Amino acid sequence: MTAPHAAATERGLWVAEMFAETVQGEGPSTGVPAAFIRLSRCNLTCLPWCDTPYTWDTSRFDLARESHRAAVADLLAWALPRPEELMVISGGEPLMQQHAMLPLVQALTDSGKQVEIETNGTYVPSKALIEAGAHFNVSPKLANSGMPLAKRIRSRALEAFAAAPRRTFKFVACEVGDLDEIDDLVARYGLNPVWVMPEGTTADAVIEGMRALVPGVAVRGYRLATRLHVLMWGDERGR
Ligand code: SF4
Repeated sequence: MTAPHAAATERGLWVAEMFAETVQGEGPSTGVPAAFIRLSRCNLTCLPWCDTPYTWDTSRFDLARESHRAAVADLLAWALPRPEELMVISGGEPLMQQHAMLPLVQALTDSGKQVEIETNGTYVPSKALIEAGAHFNVSPKLANSGMPLAKRIRSRALEAFAAAPRRTFKFVACEVGDLDEIDDLVARYGLNPVWVMPEGTTADAVIEGMRALVPGVAVRGYRLATRLHVLMWGDERGR
Protein backbone atom coordinates (compact mmCIF):
# COMPACT_ATOMS: atom_id res chain seq x y z
CA MET A 1 0.00 0.00 0.00
CA THR A 2 1.29 3.46 -0.88
CA ALA A 3 1.88 5.87 2.02
CA PRO A 4 -0.37 8.98 1.90
CA HIS A 5 2.58 11.34 1.46
CA ALA A 6 4.03 9.20 -1.32
CA ALA A 7 0.69 9.18 -3.13
CA ALA A 8 0.40 12.95 -2.83
CA THR A 9 3.93 13.35 -4.16
CA GLU A 10 3.20 11.14 -7.17
CA ARG A 11 0.17 13.26 -8.05
CA GLY A 12 2.39 16.31 -8.00
CA LEU A 13 1.53 19.91 -7.25
CA TRP A 14 -0.81 22.41 -8.86
CA VAL A 15 1.57 25.03 -10.23
CA ALA A 16 0.54 28.39 -11.68
CA GLU A 17 3.96 29.58 -12.84
CA MET A 18 7.70 29.34 -12.30
CA PHE A 19 10.08 32.20 -12.92
CA ALA A 20 13.63 33.17 -12.06
CA GLU A 21 16.42 35.66 -12.72
CA THR A 22 14.72 38.06 -10.33
CA VAL A 23 14.91 39.06 -6.66
CA GLN A 24 12.64 38.59 -3.67
CA GLY A 25 10.46 41.71 -3.69
CA GLU A 26 9.00 41.61 -0.18
CA GLY A 27 9.92 40.90 3.41
CA PRO A 28 13.22 40.22 5.16
CA SER A 29 14.98 38.85 2.05
CA THR A 30 14.09 41.81 -0.16
CA GLY A 31 16.69 42.12 -2.91
CA VAL A 32 18.07 38.58 -2.56
CA PRO A 33 18.38 36.80 -5.94
CA ALA A 34 15.46 34.38 -6.09
CA ALA A 35 13.59 31.86 -8.19
CA PHE A 36 9.85 31.41 -7.67
CA ILE A 37 7.47 28.48 -7.79
CA ARG A 38 3.93 29.86 -7.57
CA LEU A 39 1.43 27.20 -6.57
CA SER A 40 -2.16 27.48 -7.73
CA ARG A 41 -5.38 27.50 -5.64
CA CYS A 42 -6.28 29.54 -2.56
CA ASN A 43 -8.77 29.11 0.27
CA LEU A 44 -9.32 32.90 0.54
CA THR A 45 -10.70 35.41 -1.96
CA CYS A 46 -9.14 38.79 -1.16
CA LEU A 47 -11.03 40.53 -3.95
CA PRO A 48 -10.05 44.16 -3.19
CA TRP A 49 -6.34 43.72 -3.87
CA CYS A 50 -5.16 40.14 -4.52
CA ASP A 51 -2.47 40.35 -7.22
CA THR A 52 -2.64 36.64 -8.13
CA PRO A 53 -6.35 36.03 -8.81
CA TYR A 54 -5.37 33.65 -11.61
CA THR A 55 -4.53 31.13 -8.86
CA TRP A 56 -8.10 30.95 -7.51
CA ASP A 57 -10.73 33.20 -9.14
CA THR A 58 -12.78 30.85 -11.30
CA SER A 59 -15.21 33.68 -12.19
CA ARG A 60 -12.46 35.42 -14.16
CA PHE A 61 -9.94 32.69 -14.96
CA ASP A 62 -9.98 29.14 -16.26
CA LEU A 63 -7.80 27.39 -13.70
CA ALA A 64 -7.37 24.42 -16.04
CA ARG A 65 -5.48 26.78 -18.38
CA GLU A 66 -3.87 28.86 -15.64
CA SER A 67 -2.24 25.92 -13.86
CA HIS A 68 -0.78 22.50 -14.42
CA ARG A 69 0.19 19.46 -12.39
CA ALA A 70 3.94 19.23 -11.92
CA ALA A 71 5.79 16.28 -10.41
CA VAL A 72 8.14 17.11 -7.55
CA ALA A 73 10.98 15.54 -9.56
CA ASP A 74 10.33 17.95 -12.45
CA LEU A 75 10.20 20.96 -10.13
CA LEU A 76 13.51 19.90 -8.60
CA ALA A 77 15.05 19.39 -12.04
CA TRP A 78 14.19 23.03 -12.76
CA ALA A 79 15.11 24.47 -9.36
CA LEU A 80 18.25 22.68 -8.22
CA PRO A 81 20.63 23.71 -11.04
CA ARG A 82 19.52 27.33 -10.82
CA PRO A 83 22.10 29.83 -9.53
CA GLU A 84 19.70 31.82 -7.34
CA GLU A 85 20.39 31.13 -3.65
CA LEU A 86 16.76 31.62 -2.61
CA MET A 87 13.78 29.56 -3.72
CA VAL A 88 10.40 31.13 -2.93
CA ILE A 89 7.32 28.93 -2.86
CA SER A 90 4.37 31.26 -3.16
CA GLY A 91 0.72 31.18 -4.19
CA GLY A 92 -2.21 31.23 -4.01
CA GLU A 93 -1.98 29.42 -0.73
CA PRO A 94 0.88 26.88 -0.82
CA LEU A 95 -0.12 25.11 2.39
CA MET A 96 -3.27 23.78 0.73
CA GLN A 97 -0.75 21.35 -0.84
CA GLN A 98 1.59 21.01 2.10
CA HIS A 99 1.82 17.21 2.07
CA ALA A 100 2.78 17.08 -1.60
CA MET A 101 5.07 20.09 -1.10
CA LEU A 102 7.06 18.52 1.75
CA PRO A 103 9.47 16.42 -0.37
CA LEU A 104 10.10 19.45 -2.59
CA VAL A 105 10.98 21.66 0.38
CA GLN A 106 13.09 18.94 1.99
CA ALA A 107 15.08 18.29 -1.18
CA LEU A 108 15.67 22.01 -1.71
CA THR A 109 16.91 22.63 1.82
CA ASP A 110 18.99 19.42 1.76
CA SER A 111 20.71 20.75 -1.36
CA GLY A 112 21.66 23.94 0.47
CA LYS A 113 19.01 26.21 -1.01
CA GLN A 114 17.40 28.81 1.20
CA VAL A 115 13.63 28.30 0.99
CA GLU A 116 10.83 30.74 1.83
CA ILE A 117 7.18 29.68 1.90
CA GLU A 118 4.69 32.52 1.55
CA THR A 119 1.40 31.72 3.28
CA ASN A 120 -1.77 33.47 4.44
CA GLY A 121 -1.41 31.73 7.82
CA THR A 122 -4.72 29.87 7.86
CA TYR A 123 -3.38 26.30 7.68
CA VAL A 124 -1.54 24.65 10.55
CA PRO A 125 1.89 23.68 9.17
CA SER A 126 2.87 20.06 9.79
CA LYS A 127 5.74 19.31 12.16
CA ALA A 128 7.60 17.77 9.22
CA LEU A 129 7.23 20.90 7.11
CA ILE A 130 8.51 23.09 9.94
CA GLU A 131 11.46 20.75 10.46
CA ALA A 132 12.27 20.73 6.74
CA GLY A 133 14.05 24.02 7.31
CA ALA A 134 12.08 26.55 5.28
CA HIS A 135 11.40 30.08 6.47
CA PHE A 136 7.71 31.00 6.61
CA ASN A 137 6.62 34.43 5.43
CA VAL A 138 3.19 34.51 7.09
CA SER A 139 0.78 37.16 5.85
CA PRO A 140 -2.44 37.11 7.92
CA LYS A 141 -5.18 39.05 6.22
CA LEU A 142 -6.84 42.11 7.77
CA ALA A 143 -10.40 43.38 7.32
CA ASN A 144 -9.17 45.31 4.25
CA SER A 145 -9.00 41.96 2.44
CA GLY A 146 -12.78 41.78 2.44
CA MET A 147 -12.64 38.36 4.08
CA PRO A 148 -14.73 37.52 7.19
CA LEU A 149 -12.70 37.26 10.39
CA ALA A 150 -13.50 33.57 10.90
CA LYS A 151 -12.02 32.66 7.52
CA ARG A 152 -8.88 34.81 7.57
CA ILE A 153 -7.75 34.39 11.20
CA ARG A 154 -7.22 30.82 12.41
CA SER A 155 -5.91 30.73 15.96
CA ARG A 156 -4.29 27.29 15.85
CA ALA A 157 -2.43 28.11 12.68
CA LEU A 158 -1.15 31.48 13.90
CA GLU A 159 -0.08 29.94 17.21
CA ALA A 160 1.83 27.24 15.32
CA PHE A 161 3.60 29.79 13.12
CA ALA A 162 4.40 32.01 16.11
CA ALA A 163 6.12 29.00 17.73
CA ALA A 164 8.01 27.99 14.56
CA PRO A 165 11.77 28.66 14.61
CA ARG A 166 11.92 30.44 11.24
CA ARG A 167 9.01 32.80 10.56
CA THR A 168 8.21 36.40 9.75
CA PHE A 169 4.80 38.06 9.84
CA LYS A 170 3.92 40.46 7.08
CA PHE A 171 0.76 42.55 6.90
CA VAL A 172 -0.71 44.50 4.01
CA ALA A 173 -1.90 47.91 5.24
CA CYS A 174 -4.19 50.03 3.06
CA GLU A 175 -4.28 52.92 5.55
CA VAL A 176 -2.65 53.98 8.81
CA GLY A 177 -5.71 52.83 10.79
CA ASP A 178 -4.89 49.24 9.81
CA LEU A 179 -1.96 49.36 12.24
CA ASP A 180 -4.39 49.14 15.18
CA GLU A 181 -5.80 45.91 13.82
CA ILE A 182 -2.26 44.58 13.41
CA ASP A 183 -1.55 45.53 17.05
CA ASP A 184 -4.46 43.39 18.23
CA LEU A 185 -3.27 40.31 16.31
CA VAL A 186 0.33 40.80 17.40
CA ALA A 187 -0.72 41.00 21.06
CA ARG A 188 -3.15 38.09 20.88
CA TYR A 189 -0.86 35.61 19.15
CA GLY A 190 2.62 36.87 20.07
CA LEU A 191 3.58 37.52 16.44
CA ASN A 192 7.19 38.55 15.92
CA PRO A 193 8.97 39.93 13.94
CA VAL A 194 6.35 42.02 12.14
CA TRP A 195 6.71 43.72 8.77
CA VAL A 196 4.12 46.12 7.40
CA MET A 197 3.78 46.63 3.68
CA PRO A 198 1.60 49.13 1.80
CA GLU A 199 -1.04 47.92 -0.62
CA GLY A 200 -0.44 49.06 -4.18
CA THR A 201 0.14 47.85 -7.72
CA THR A 202 1.96 50.97 -8.94
CA ALA A 203 5.26 52.49 -7.82
CA ASP A 204 3.54 55.75 -6.87
CA ALA A 205 0.98 53.96 -4.69
CA VAL A 206 3.64 51.89 -2.91
CA ILE A 207 5.86 54.91 -2.17
CA GLU A 208 2.92 57.02 -1.00
CA GLY A 209 1.76 54.17 1.23
CA MET A 210 5.22 53.71 2.74
CA ARG A 211 5.50 57.41 3.53
CA ALA A 212 2.13 57.35 5.29
CA LEU A 213 2.98 54.24 7.31
CA VAL A 214 6.49 55.18 8.49
CA PRO A 215 5.60 57.09 11.71
CA GLY A 216 3.14 54.48 13.00
CA VAL A 217 5.41 51.57 12.10
CA ALA A 218 8.40 53.20 13.79
CA VAL A 219 6.73 53.91 17.14
CA ARG A 220 5.44 50.33 17.31
CA GLY A 221 8.81 48.72 16.61
CA TYR A 222 7.51 47.04 13.45
CA ARG A 223 9.50 47.03 10.21
CA LEU A 224 8.50 48.72 6.99
CA ALA A 225 8.44 46.51 3.91
CA THR A 226 8.35 47.68 0.34
CA ARG A 227 7.17 45.86 -2.77
CA LEU A 228 10.34 45.94 -4.83
CA HIS A 229 8.87 44.13 -7.82
CA VAL A 230 6.01 46.67 -8.00
CA LEU A 231 8.48 49.57 -7.84
CA MET A 232 10.34 48.05 -10.80
CA TRP A 233 7.62 46.41 -12.91
CA GLY A 234 4.19 47.50 -11.61
CA ASP A 235 1.76 44.56 -11.60
CA GLU A 236 3.49 42.74 -14.47
CA ARG A 237 3.08 39.00 -14.05
CA GLY A 238 5.98 36.56 -13.57
CA ARG A 239 8.41 39.06 -12.04
S1 SF4 B 1 -4.62 34.81 0.47
FE1 SF4 B 1 -3.16 35.73 -0.99
S2 SF4 B 1 -3.44 34.55 -2.91
FE2 SF4 B 1 -5.20 34.09 -1.58
S3 SF4 B 1 -6.78 35.53 -2.26
FE3 SF4 B 1 -5.71 36.48 -0.49
S4 SF4 B 1 -4.07 37.74 -1.42
FE4 SF4 B 1 -4.80 36.31 -3.02
